[in-house]
Amino acid sequence: MSFFIDVIVPLPLEQRFTYSVTDEEHERLQIGMRVAVPFGKRKVYTSIVAKIHSTPPVRYEAKPVEELLDESPTVTAYQLKLWKWIADYYLCTEGEILKSALPSALLIESETVIEPHPDYDINTIDEDKHLNDSEYLILQALQKQSLLKISEITLILDRKTIFPVINAMAEKGLILINQELNKQYKPKLQKYIKLSDHYSSETELPGLLESLERANKQKEALLKLFSLKAQTKKPISLKVLKEEAGVSDSVIKSLVDKSIFEEYHIKKDRIQYDGDSSSHQINLNDYQTEALEDIKNGFNKHPVCLLQGVTSSGKTEVYIKLIEKVIREGKQTLYLLPEIALTTQLIQRLQDYFGDQVLVYHSKYSVNERVEVYRHVLNGTKGKIVIGARSSIFLPFQDLGLIVVDESHESSFKQFDPAPRYHARDTAIVLASFFKAKTLLGTATPSVESFHNVKQDKYAFAQLTRRYGNVIPPKIELVDLKDQQRKQKMTGHFSETLLNAIKETLKQGQQVILFQNRRGFSPILECNTCGHAPQCPNCDVSLTYHKHNNTLRCHYCGYHIAMQTKCMACGSNDVTTKGFGTEQIETELHAMFEDKVIKRMDLDTTRGKYAYEKIISAFENREIDILVGTQMLTKGLDFRHVKLVGVMNADSLLNFPDFRAHERSFQLLVQVAGRAGRTEEQGQVLIQTYNPYHRILQQVTTNSYDEMFKEQLDERRHFKYPPLFRMIKITFKSRDLNKMNEGSDWLALYYRQIFTTNVLGPEFPAISRIRNQYHKNILIKIPHDQSLAKTKAYVKAGVDKFKSIAQFRSIKVVVNVDPY
Ligand code: ADP
Ligand code: ZN
Ligand code: ZN
Repeated sequence: MSFFIDVIVPLPLEQRFTYSVTDEEHERLQIGMRVAVPFGKRKVYTSIVAKIHSTPPVRYEAKPVEELLDESPTVTAYQLKLWKWIADYYLCTEGEILKSALPSALLIESETVIEPHPDYDINTIDEDKHLNDSEYLILQALQKQSLLKISEITLILDRKTIFPVINAMAEKGLILINQELNKQYKPKLQKYIKLSDHYSSETELPGLLESLERANKQKEALLKLFSLKAQTKKPISLKVLKEEAGVSDSVIKSLVDKSIFEEYHIKKDRIQYDGDSSSHQINLNDYQTEALEDIKNGFNKHPVCLLQGVTSSGKTEVYIKLIEKVIREGKQTLYLLPEIALTTQLIQRLQDYFGDQVLVYHSKYSVNERVEVYRHVLNGTKGKIVIGARSSIFLPFQDLGLIVVDESHESSFKQFDPAPRYHARDTAIVLASFFKAKTLLGTATPSVESFHNVKQDKYAFAQLTRRYGNVIPPKIELVDLKDQQRKQKMTGHFSETLLNAIKETLKQGQQVILFQNRRGFSPILECNTCGHAPQCPNCDVSLTYHKHNNTLRCHYCGYHIAMQTKCMACGSNDVTTKGFGTEQIETELHAMFEDKVIKRMDLDTTRGKYAYEKIISAFENREIDILVGTQMLTKGLDFRHVKLVGVMNADSLLNFPDFRAHERSFQLLVQVAGRAGRTEEQGQVLIQTYNPYHRILQQVTTNSYDEMFKEQLDERRHFKYPPLFRMIKITFKSRDLNKMNEGSDWLALYYRQIFTTNVLGPEFPAISRIRNQYHKNILIKIPHDQSLAKTKAYVKAGVDKFKSIAQFRSIKVVVNVDPY
């Protein structure tokens, strides 16, 4: 009998492909193993064995596999089951999922690139007795050429089957595979300088200065340290001291060598920061204990529980207790967080408690580190707790007991591009169900759909209504901008109320956070004569003015030109900027608070490798007085000394063209507000708006989640939106506008013949052209009594038919299930 295998190839192809295997290979084969298979003319791909059988394919002759790459499965049966579910639910292919699910180093193909491992000294290969011939030849080639493609190695070794050689070399630590640009991620500790303990008093100064008679620079540095110390009570960083004293590293180093200065680090973990010695033990307060009991009882009836806990109520501590129980039962836990909330703060907190049981799976980690975590989870060798972002639902769990989805309202759990367009929260619930495990959704501001599930008795519910340690919730007030403008009380974009509050807070030595959801200086440059605003030539948007480099930029494609002083349409000199972004706020602040440290946190200032961490730790260490930023500020950060949070303009949030705009505004404002006053003193939140009577803003100030929920749900019912209706969005993209119009009309008509109602569009989205591609959407709304599976089958049939029409071939079609 001859044997065959069906494999999943990492390409966006509908079917699995069948290859033949020899009897000897058949004996070693198991489902979930990686095999190298030839594909197309000359390509070889790493694929996953999904089925072993003895039925030859009907339509083509099965090619033999090139080689087996594993001794035991790399992909588990649970993973294959999850991939199948995702492919069916989100209407994508298993190949697309495979590409997202496995670290790329496990998926070598002909185009894969390798490089020498930085820890292996490639100059010693002649002495290295552990190398076999193939390894020696490859490393020799890498000496001359730092990168090699697998296809090039095929020529060097003059044999076809080389994937196992490459895999083995990676495992031995000789080479790196598919290393991306993001190298190892290690948060850096900032260096601080202080006077050594035995010189700590002023009386020592004259003697010290004398001893530095012939070292002028060192003397200067010493004097500077004294004056800085007198001015501020804060720690003095090496960087500041160098700048202020105008000296180099070596000057400071000499002083350290002489034991006059001492270098030290500030540990950023706030549990130790508090000097709390019992940090490794957690005693829940009564509210937390009750919430924990409610969760446990809830889990007896429901596999999913929603924990609604106000910001700073100590949800993490409740998670930790739950996780502890799961660990004791010998099971694994997955702790999911939005990428940006995956901070060193939180990781440190869990590591302090669980030690090396904690594994972190993070896109900032290198490919090799991700492979390591993957293997640990697969083999159960280390770490029962995985903390990670969205994609960690793809790890090869063996015995999952619990999934915690923290900040579960966050929209970034949904992947928009590329496929698979999955929602990690919803997929996590399905994954947990395979193991009969529980899922806990935690947040201060539940999404409308999660809370709806509680109301429908699909999820259990628990609550934490008090901040931990009797910290009082911040006082939230609205500032009427219209009124302030009429009374001429505005300075730039600051109302008198906000400005006074900032001054007062700074006087008390506390910190301020200001939130503005637009980056750049101002969104639009407009001509007062003809009304023209410079547009991006590639996208359907106006260019944004960036002051620091005096450019006009497109935030969608990166197009930029120099700032214009004359109107490009009519030549008039009368051009003004409209609207405002974080950069403008920062500029205004600098003018008003010259002696204060003001920093900005948005996409533009956090591009560098450690830029984000640097700002955070500088803020924690109180080197920054005012931090201006976009939504980045709202995510899971816990700063001790923030007394005031200001929202520069709430209206731009509320006016967003999206059915969830109001829900999102509520969540965002409550989360931003939660950054204020996390210690004994009550924090203050000021929200500037032109619409102080807007329902959502009223609900934010009175903390009326339930009311917000009820009103939003009524609206969703009325306008047929989730969670009362499901949605599938079909997006068309093409450079040819006419063709796209024609194609999208065709498919809309096709769907209208099937689903008589609830087919909307095709319509242009708010931004109808991006990177020279026109976009149009069809929206299909699905009532709850309509079969989801059948609807999807029809949607898919329509797309397949569309793709088979020759004249539409240049139009890209993207199907997005639950596109929100
Ligand atoms: P949330 O995630 O709900 O916003 P956190 O878990 O960050 O709140 O808790 C807020 C603060 O209170 C943290 O500094 C945390 O260390 C502290 N805290 C909460 N619960 C406890 C506890 N049971 N024992 C000691 N500290 C706690
Ligand atoms: Zn003009
Ligand atoms: Zn553009």
